Amino acid sequence: MDWEHYYDNPVPGRLAIRCPRCGAEARYQEAFTFLRHDEAAGAYPPGSVVEWRGVRVASNFPHLFRFDIKRKSYRHHEVGACSCLACGFNGKHTLAWPDDAFFACLVRGRLLWAFNREHCVALRDYLAAGNRDAYRRQSPHAVALRHIPGHFLLARNRDEAVEQLNRVLSA
Ligand SMILES: [Zn+2]
Repeated sequence: MDWEHYYDNPVPGRLAIRCPRCGAEARYQEAFTFLRHDEAAGAYPPGSVVEWRGVRVASNFPHLFRFDIKRKSYRHHEVGACSCLACGFNGKHTLAWPDDAFFACLVRGRLLWAFNREHCVALRDYLAAGNRDAYRRQSPHAVALRHIPGHFLLARNRDEAVEQLNRVLSA
């Protein structure tokens, strides 16, 4: 599977991105959540949940986004909001992934990225592990870890990858 087709994989609802204003670690959240079949709508603000093509869609930022029920399709993560604790920016953001990824580094010419700090730690520990299969099996990030391109798994790139991820984590 292509690394960049992360849309096909289970993706955390929240991503760590570089703040478009100040460059610090900021949080990106998708504008809309598709409710599970058995999920109660009560957790969302009144009026923020609409019915669309047989599913219920909740707006996570009712003051910024309203779901257009006339739309034909929806691409996950196409639109959302960024909030940054460092500079106070709170606003709409169109996600450009992986360019926006805060936890990202180059390993011998290729970009290695993580969804957020927790995923980045898992990535680092997985690449550094003596027994990667055993590490992955017990990891909550097992699915994402399975999609890491072979380039980063090469024995000769291991030290470089672990070192770069450590640098990103301690920045
Ligand atoms: Zn900021």
